[in-house]
Amino acid sequence: MPSLVSRLSHYGTVREHVPLARYTTWKIGGPADIWFEPAGTEALAVALQYIREAHVPWMIIGKGSNMLILDGGFRGVVIHLGEPFVTLRKEGATLIAGGAYPLVRLAYDAVRRGLSGLTYAGGIPGSVGGAVVMNAGAHGQDTSRVLSYARIVWEDGRVEILRREALEMTYRTTRLQRERGVVVEAAFDLTPGDEQSLRKEMNTLKTHRLRTQPLQEACAGSVFRNPPGDYAARLIEACGLKGTHHGGAQISELHANFIINRGAARASDVLHLIHTVQSCVKERFGIELKTEVLVMGEG
Ligand SMILES: Cc1cc2nc3c(=O)[nH]c(=O)nc-3n(C[C@H](O)[C@H](O)[C@H](O)COP(=O)(O)OP(=O)(O)OC[C@H]3O[C@@H](n4cnc5c(N)ncnc54)[C@H](O)[C@@H]3O)c2cc1C
Repeated sequence: MPSLVSRLSHYGTVREHVPLARYTTWKIGGPADIWFEPAGTEALAVALQYIREAHVPWMIIGKGSNMLILDGGFRGVVIHLGEPFVTLRKEGATLIAGGAYPLVRLAYDAVRRGLSGLTYAGGIPGSVGGAVVMNAGAHGQDTSRVLSYARIVWEDGRVEILRREALEMTYRTTRLQRERGVVVEAAFDLTPGDEQSLRKEMNTLKTHRLRTQPLQEACAGSVFRNPPGDYAARLIEACGLKGTHHGGAQISELHANFIINRGAARASDVLHLIHTVQSCVKERFGIELKTEVLVMGEG
């Protein structure tokens, strides 16, 4: 590991023993052995090859808004895209954003420029990279509808542009959840629209969110995927589980598909509630709820 740390330091910022709770919206997660912020795309490509040659596990964290990192943290390298990847340019009606660009900011940028197609994203607190990987969506729309392409750095250092069709984007799923690559840039094909009405639409969606989701609490959005033809929140509520707590974690009173950190929750507390929900819903409705949040690290 020491030699990997010194090698990586030529390609970006490296720190050791970094508590990951700081980097997740749940404010949960043990330490990473190595935290690496690459200096740019080429630096990332070289660094990934070194990490692979060293046989050290790696993962990437965006804004940590869809992740449960376990209490033992991560034995390996956690890659995080920093400032060099917070970029934005416009080509006609297409916005091209760096992998670390905040999705909410991108949605507001689009409205300001009178471009339609991203109002759904105005309340999704992830990065552009995370939105591509998760096919983030809301209000009946998702990233697959507007994404043109994503630029990916693969684990072996190859840089490739993948068009939307190649990413196999379905409900909160893409092939990037199975394959090992980093989204360093994504292009969104938008359509010209009226700035005032786009702003109004986004504000309406925001007001709805504020009313229906516990946005003042540390959380990770919807914990479970909706099963076909139904809503996870409805099933959890029907099981009478709203408000149930374990340790520092609680199933939100406001939205049954959200689990909140009441202050000192551990990942194990959240996992306990996840299992409670899964077994109740299975027993009562015969449905196996799958998590939308990704569980990473070591327990
Ligand atoms: C209050 C709240 C509301 C939410 N509402 C919604 C909603 O309405 N709709 C919705 O879809 N989601 C919602 N979410 C969940 C979350 O914001 C989205 O899934 C978001 O797209 C995750 O982006 P992120 O950058 O935080 O990714 P992370 O949580 O950091 O990572 C998610 C996955 O993407 C990978 N990843 C992240 N960045 C990259 C990259 N650059 N390249 C390759 N892989 C990467 C990670 O390794 C991980 O596998 C909500 C979350 C919160 C906290």
